[in-house]
Amino acid sequence: GIAAESTSTSPSGRKCIDLPGQTGLFARVLAADLGRALDRDDQIFLVYQPQVDVDLGRIVGAEALLRWKHPTHGLIPPHITVALAEDTHLISDLGMRVLSDACMHHSVLLNQGETDQILSVNLSAQQFEDEFLVEKVVEILRKTGVKTNMLKVEVTESMVLTPDVKTISILKRLREMGVRVAIDDFGMGHTSLRYLKEFPVDTVKIDRSLTLESLDGINDHIVTSIVSLCEALGVQIIVEGVETEEQLERFREHRCSFFQGYFFSKPISGEAYVELVRGQVK
Ligand code: C2E
Ligand code: MG
Ligand code: MG
Ligand code: MG
Repeated sequence: GIAAESTSTSPSGRKCIDLPGQTGLFARVLAADLGRALDRDDQIFLVYQPQVDVDLGRIVGAEALLRWKHPTHGLIPPHITVALAEDTHLISDLGMRVLSDACMHHSVLLNQGETDQILSVNLSAQQFEDEFLVEKVVEILRKTGVKTNMLKVEVTESMVLTPDVKTISILKRLREMGVRVAIDDFGMGHTSLRYLKEFPVDTVKIDRSLTLESLDGINDHIVTSIVSLCEALGVQIIVEGVETEEQLERFREHRCSFFQGYFFSKPISGEAYVELVRGQVK
């Protein structure tokens, strides 16, 4: 199964899945499976992890997370599915499938009068190489009736570290339309702090690695600088991966109000997410 894989570097310079001695064979077979899975609706699906505002005590949105239930290998982790798609030109199809399914699900909420929820969707670096990305996003929003200001796209910190003009211009166009932009996994490489000023961004998601308390307390200093910079720039902070009450309290002391983590909820089915939102007192 998938646990036996090792990694190697693809022509694009990225890590890809590989079997020792049989370069790319397993990856090629799996990619063919992924191509077929994209044409069906019984293997690829999304789960939703609620995001909460603890000041309001409410769920304010959710992040859509990709799942691929392979018929023989079982559940494939999303970063593997995404890496596979990036190495085999399936990323555009996969990315649009995710966005389309997520927006279709969001329209279920809208039809039930729940118009305050923010839908977060991850975009991989390679999706920004698609010159029609913005047009495709617009078309999916139009088809599903989801408003631009209900959608947030999450891009990873590494994309901010090496800001590419094309990526920045796409993000700017999305933001001008009202789509929000979040930097995911923030704090992994703290050198990007200075890019926050130039990067078109609404939200910073503090990475799970910073949620864990370090022995020397250095993480707290990093969090302090991220929080004060974001406050100065008017950027929202979402703390990711909070699992315990102690972690929650620590970030409360840092004046953080938005959280996403197992302490509140693991990723759940679309139906379960709708139920949670509908159960909230208005
Ligand atoms: P991410 O975007 O940072 O998503 C958060 C990940 O952290 C999720 O893992 C979530 O289940 C996990 N998580 C949240 N709270 C906790 C916690 O309290 N404890 C622990 N241990 N984990 C927590 P998941 O679903 O396995 O996704 C992993 C990564 O795969 C995502 O990280 C994202 O980078 C990527 N990914 C997932 N779905 C997509 C997608 O549709 N498109 C793209 N391009 N990437 C995706
Ligand atoms: Mg994310
Ligand atoms: Mg993250
Ligand atoms: Mg993460």
